[in-house]
Amino acid sequence: MRFIDEYRDAKAVERFARAIARVTKKPWTLMEVCGGQTHAIVKFGVDELLPKEVTLVHGPGCPVCVTPVELIDKAIEIASRPDVIFCSFGDMLRVPGTGRDLLAVKAKGGDIRVVYSPLDALKIAHENPTKQVVFFAVGFETTAPANAMAVYQAYQRGIQNFSLLVSHVLVPPAMEAILSSPGNRVQGFLAAGHVCTVMGYTEYEPIARKYRVPIVVTGFEPLDILQGVYLCIKQLEEGRAEVENQYTRSVRREGNRAAQRLIREVFRVVPRKWRGVGEIPRSGLGLKEEYAGFDAERRFGVAGYTALEASECISGLILQGVKKPHECPAFGTRCTPEHPLGATMVSSEGACAAYYRYRKRSAVSN
Ligand code: SF4
Repeated sequence: MRFIDEYRDAKAVERFARAIARVTKKPWTLMEVCGGQTHAIVKFGVDELLPKEVTLVHGPGCPVCVTPVELIDKAIEIASRPDVIFCSFGDMLRVPGTGRDLLAVKAKGGDIRVVYSPLDALKIAHENPTKQVVFFAVGFETTAPANAMAVYQAYQRGIQNFSLLVSHVLVPPAMEAILSSPGNRVQGFLAAGHVCTVMGYTEYEPIARKYRVPIVVTGFEPLDILQGVYLCIKQLEEGRAEVENQYTRSVRREGNRAAQRLIREVFRVVPRKWRGVGEIPRSGLGLKEEYAGFDAERRFGVAGYTALEASECISGLILQGVKKPHECPAFGTRCTPEHPLGATMVSSEGACAAYYRYRKRSAVSN
């Protein structure tokens, strides 16, 4: 299949691994930002093809993983109400809140439905006018246009019984937070290709200049990732810090302007709390005042909720590239995909889940 087979071609992968080895003279630490890239790196053993001087650390690029525990508690509170149909992507159902997860609410009779698009939730709202239908709007810039479209359509069509529980996060402020933290060890980034497909990469240019870090927009297949690593290391070895685009088959510098207009129409930039990391200024999207009537937090009076993270889980350090999953004492023992203590063990894009699935034996014995 074009664009899959050619980016998994073993000979091309070997060629690029050799090219990286040739160009690498010093030790470098790179972070891939996207959970899809983390999954591919661990699944295909991309990191094991790199010279020992190159370390890949895994960033905060799994939207399920960075959704704060209090948002899960808000979702549980709303979904428990008898007049509510709560719609969500499937991954969110098993993310632990303070005491339980959405699946437990569903088991007790809560009307929780797994949908594949916010427009499916809007359709459910249209078909169930006596119910309140809430969509759990989680994700990066990638999913924001569809969520914006659902709210825009609800507004245009006068559908009053629809709302969003919004937990949108933005990638560039998280990268800046990592780069400015005292323990930072990241020297170059592989930026998330799908986010840049929507947003382009002009936002990354001032970050590359300010922090003197190369940022390479990168795809998700093994060859994409190796090409991204190669371009990043080449810049570091040559003393350059620029934004480059490896994922040219999908990403343009200016991104998708129509999608960006839709996001700006419905959302505004707000501070956002990231699970395990804390609040990052200007790192999320919230509904604009014109669309505040579609804000589930206001509609159900849960905006003031706060909650503490499980103290045993070190996912915050993993999401900042400071630790790897197998360095967590609970990994594979008290924390497994069947009984997750943290969100990074739940989502298929979470680093802990990827290590558990593909590296469990070696990681536990290390
Ligand atoms: S293994 Fe479990 S407890 Fe440890 S960091 Fe990952 S999700 Fe958290």
